Order: sequence, then C-alpha cells, then structure tokens
Amino acid sequence: MIKINENYKKLQASYLFVEIGKRVSGFQKENPDKEIIRMGIGDVTLPLPSVCIDAMHKAVDDLTNIKTFKGYGPEQGYDFLREPISENDFKARGADISADEIFISDGAKCDTGNFQELFSQDSVIAFPDPVYPVYSDTNVMAGRSGNFANGRYENFIYLDSTEKNNFIPDLPSKKADLIYLCFPNNPTGATATKDQLKKWVDYAKENKALILFDAAYETFIRDESLPKSIFEISGAKEVAVEFRSFSKTAGFTGVRCAYIAVPKECKIWDKEGESHSLHSLWNRRHSTKFNGASYPVQKGAAAVYTPEGKKEVKTVIDYYLANAKMIKDSMTNLGYKCTGGDNSPYVWIKTGTSSWNFFDSLLKKTGVVCTPGSGFGTCGEGYVRLSAFNTKENTEKAMAKVAQFMK
Ligand SMILES: *Cc1c(COP(=O)(O)O)cnc(C)c1O
Repeated sequence: MIKINENYKKLQASYLFVEIGKRVSGFQKENPDKEIIRMGIGDVTLPLPSVCIDAMHKAVDDLTNIKTFKGYGPEQGYDFLREPISENDFKARGADISADEIFISDGAKCDTGNFQELFSQDSVIAFPDPVYPVYSDTNVMAGRSGNFANGRYENFIYLDSTEKNNFIPDLPSKKADLIYLCFPNNPTGATATKDQLKKWVDYAKENKALILFDAAYETFIRDESLPKSIFEISGAKEVAVEFRSFSKTAGFTGVRCAYIAVPKECKIWDKEGESHSLHSLWNRRHSTKFNGASYPVQKGAAAVYTPEGKKEVKTVIDYYLANAKMIKDSMTNLGYKCTGGDNSPYVWIKTGTSSWNFFDSLLKKTGVVCTPGSGFGTCGEGYVRLSAFNTKENTEKAMAKVAQFMK
C-alpha cells in the first residue's frame, strides 16, 4: 500500500487568492458595468527590458548552429552569468562573494523551498509573521512544524512584525537554528537597516544558527544607506545564505531565473559535533536534483548587467516606485497609516477594521482589489497590501476612486 507523507495533512488550505477570486467575480456578476482595478497583484506587469529580449533571441540562434550549439550546461550556471553577478551584485557593494559561490536556478520560490533539505529534522525554524508563505509550508512538508492550533504551528518560532517594532522583528527569546528573513519584505514593504541586520548576524553567530536571507526585492531599495545584501554586514559570510531572483528585478516571473549565494565560510554541524561545508552540501544537492537553468534564459539574465540593461531595469523600477509613492501618498492623505512603498513595490496599510472587511468595502465602493493582510499570517490581520505592479494609469484611476469614496 502506498502511503501518504503524513506531514502534508498538516498543511492548511491556502484560501487567500481563491477567496479573493470568488469575491471579485461575485461582485462583478452583481455589478456588470463597474470597473475592477486589480491592485493586489504580486506579479510584474511591464514587458522585459529589450536587451534581455535581444540576448535571448541571439541565444536561440546559437542553438541552430552546430558550432555554437549548447546541450547541458554546468549545473551551477554559466560563468558568463555568475561572474557579472559576483561583480555587480556583491563586490561593487563591498560584499566579497565570488562567482563560484553563486548557484543559478530557475526560481527563488524553489530555492527558498528546497534549501531546508540540508538541515536535520529537529532544526528549530523561525520566520517573520506576516511573510511569504513558502518558508513555513516547505518546513511543514519536511515534518518540522508540529501541530496547527490557533492559526500557528506549535514548533515554529513566529517573529512578529508589527507597528510596535516598525515591522522589523526582534530577536526571538527561544533558540532558533534556521532563520528566514525577507527584506524588503513581502507583504509589509519594510526594509531593514544595517544595524538591524547586524543584530541577526550576531545572534546567528552566538547560536551557531543560519540565516536564509530572501532579497527578491533588493532592486527597489533606493536609499543608499540601506543594505541590499546581507553580505554587506560584517561577519555575515559565516552565517548566511542569500536568495535573489530576476523575477521582480527584471520582469522574469514568466521566464524563470534566480540564484543563491552560498559563501564557502558557512558551516553546518553533524550530531558528533563535526563541521561540514554548507557550500559543498548545497553543491551536492543542487547538482543531484537540478540540471541547470536554460541557456537562452541565462543569456537574457546576463544582459541585465550590461550598461544598457542596468539603464532599462532602472527605468522599469522607477516606474513601479512612482506608482508605489502615489499609493502611499494617497492613502496617507486619507488618514491611513502606511509602511513600505519607498524602497519596495508594496504598501502595507492599517485599515482600522479586519482585513476582509476592508477588502469588501474597498471593492464595493471603488472596484479596487487589494490583498488582505491576514492571508500572510496572524500579524497581518487588520492590514491590506496594495501593489505598485500596475500601469500608472490604473494606479491613478484607483487612487482617484479611493480618494472619492473612502474618505
Ligand atoms: C516573488 C518572490 C520570490 C520570487 O520567486 P521566483 O520563484 O524567483 O519568481 C521570492 N521571494 C519572495 C518574498 C517573493 O515575493
């Protein structure tokens, strides 16, 4: 008899986007002439930079010729991509990450989900609340959660991100082994300062813990005093791994390309107390289960680091950031407290009522769709997320309606 992995039975149904879809289509049926403006989107909307498109076209042409044809590439990615990543994303910012510490993949969702495989079953997991649900659910599947009660799993450490701590969680009082951090945060848009990250790096050193740092939104950081990489913090190379993605930075959500930086200094211990290299372990895991991201896609990603690519990416991100500012300013003017929106595509809004109440009232009065914060964790209750991933015209229209009907 084939038996189920019992851990999968502990997963909670994820209603969030299903429920949003249901309520929106119900509203549309009752009000067929009302326009719906979707401001809840967690996906990019503008086309890819043209340099990326050109590089991908050219790479496809390479595959037509016996002299330039490519079959399997290196599992870790091509040097033509790993090298500019090391130079531009790290060394240019004073973070000493070399090309052979970069592992190219087809997405940060799989990377953040897969990485926990390296750690023992009894590792204590900590992650922010509210947050991207992948960190929690993949550890539930791996059997580290314990039972679910009152909205939380008993074995996880939830790092509350609330108005009181400006949505940057405090160090836990219990000992954590594996700590997920995500800045700029999805969904709150909060970004951490160097001092705030330094506390986590010191904590990880003291406790022989490891930080998994998700920097999927780093390109949205425009305040030069804020760190884009955890490796800008001294000592982080011994205790942290960083996830990056071309999805939100260069519009690759449908193309698929991302990477993990795993420093060679990072250690992990066995039950005899002997240390092992995290880099070697991940290299073993990655090359056993993955055969490399596609050649045209890696060529497209490498084009992001050309002077023209940097310019085009900046234009797109500026466009989204202008939308974010418009959302934040409009909501603030109406008297709502907002976080994010400055160095992030997301604006996190305190509603003064429950997340779903606000969702319904916003939809009914304006046709604008938001994302209820309660879908990202217990601390998200009472908040909604508005997204800057939209056209300027839609953002303007939505904010004009909100100003008119939500006073
Ligand atoms: C969108 C997002 C990712 C991106 O994942 P890809 O699989 O590379 O598209 C990773 N982390 C967070 C927090 C995200 O919001």
